[in-house]
Amino acid sequence: MAKKSTGRPVGAQTQDRPVADEVIPVCPHCGSRDRGEFRSLRRVDGCGEINGRKYDGVELRNCNCNNCGGAMVVRRHLWIA
Ligand SMILES: [Zn+2]
Repeated sequence: MAKKSTGRPVGAQTQDRPVADEVIPVCPHCGSRDRGEFRSLRRVDGCGEINGRKYDGVELRNCNCNNCGGAMVVRRHLWIA
């Protein structure tokens, strides 16, 4: 059986890629990054712009901090590519 080829061909150079940081939500109560599972998802439509980047909605997800148990809403902007 032929193996499914993934990744780049043998001998290919690694290309330089721009790096994008993923923003990790920090608990507003204690500063911990150890959040619990998301429990709900709400999508709110609405256009806006932050630092020149446009978005057409936000997703709001509820969760609790694993460290202090405090409730928080994690917001994610839906960027327009
Ligand atoms: Zn916390």
